[in-house]
Amino acid sequence: MSKQIFVITEHLRGKIDDVTYEMLGKGKELAAASGGELVAVLLGHNQKELANEFGAASKVIYADHEKLADFNPWMYAKIVSEIVAQQKPRVVLTAYSSMGIEVAPAVSVSQGISLTAYVSDLSIQDLKVSVVSQIYGGKMNIEAVDENESMIACVLPGSFPADAGKATGSPAVEDFAVSGLDESKIQFKKLIAPDKSDVDITQSEILVSVGRGIQSNDNLPMVEELATKLGGAVSCSRPIVDSKWMPKTRQVGKSGLKVKPKCYLALGISGAPEHIEGMKEADLVIAVNTDPKAPIFDYAHYGVVGDLFDIIPALSAKL
Ligand SMILES: Cc1cc2nc3c(=O)[nH]c(=O)nc-3n(C[C@H](O)[C@H](O)[C@H](O)COP(=O)(O)OP(=O)(O)OC[C@H]3O[C@@H](n4cnc5c(N)ncnc54)[C@H](O)[C@@H]3O)c2cc1C
Repeated sequence: MSKQIFVITEHLRGKIDDVTYEMLGKGKELAAASGGELVAVLLGHNQKELANEFGAASKVIYADHEKLADFNPWMYAKIVSEIVAQQKPRVVLTAYSSMGIEVAPAVSVSQGISLTAYVSDLSIQDLKVSVVSQIYGGKMNIEAVDENESMIACVLPGSFPADAGKATGSPAVEDFAVSGLDESKIQFKKLIAPDKSDVDITQSEILVSVGRGIQSNDNLPMVEELATKLGGAVSCSRPIVDSKWMPKTRQVGKSGLKVKPKCYLALGISGAPEHIEGMKEADLVIAVNTDPKAPIFDYAHYGVVGDLFDIIPALSAKL
């Protein structure tokens, strides 16, 4: 059985996502425990020099093609599947990200290997892999032991420190021969950059963030009033954007923005992993939720089990 640990790295036109370093740090630990090598897998076009950022790995497998310059789910899954088929690593780490959740299931199915999603921790002993995975939107954890030849873990961003995987160096680079991309029925058209005309919530020191608990967009003015009184800005969870009550530029989380304010007030937000990913680095988190078991309380420094329709007017009046 192979002892190799693979990390599928992520970058946007050469800008490496932090989750890559988080996985490399964890991967290094796993490789030390398995007695195998840590291998970084890099896909892109004219990005070979990025391999020098993956000094935590012993080797980088690099697949270069002009069609791999931007993420394409079919093409990326095809290339990663071919690499996995050739090398049969013990563990493949992908991020639980927009890219990872497209690639990992396709590789799992094409290679007939197991897949665990929502992974928040992993360890390895005698080539048995223990995986902690979040279920029910982060309300419960399960621990599973994988004894297969190979497995994929889709890792929740923010689960491991990025610093542990940051090391420059010159790992050996192995070029992977790319072919057959013309068969793809999916073609990359264009990258749509986020609209910058709205408030930049990533720059705000105080965020008053609102979730589905607000019930209706008619109730948003009281949140705006509170944010103004606090000298902050209003941000939100994804359902608020999906309902078109607020623009996408205000969304915090996996498919929104990552924020690091001094204070994050979470009002009627349950604390799903995809939301937590965007705000867990806030200095101070204060949550208001009617459900005492809401996962947001696991991340909040202060929590109020209460109704936001009582708390918001009371706070505004006090201010
Ligand atoms: C690929 C992918 C990407 C995603 N990206 C994001 C993302 O970027 N950002 C994001 O936020 N989500 C994202 N999601 C969605 C995420 O999984 C959750 O569905 C979402 O975060 C839930 O939003 P919420 O907490 O507002 O709503 P809910 O989970 O419905 O929670 C509402 C909360 O309000 C509380 N509540 C109800 N009434 C009151 C009241 N009167 N007073 C106080 N509390 C009250 C409830 O107890 C509950 O905890 C993504 C999902 C996927 C699959």
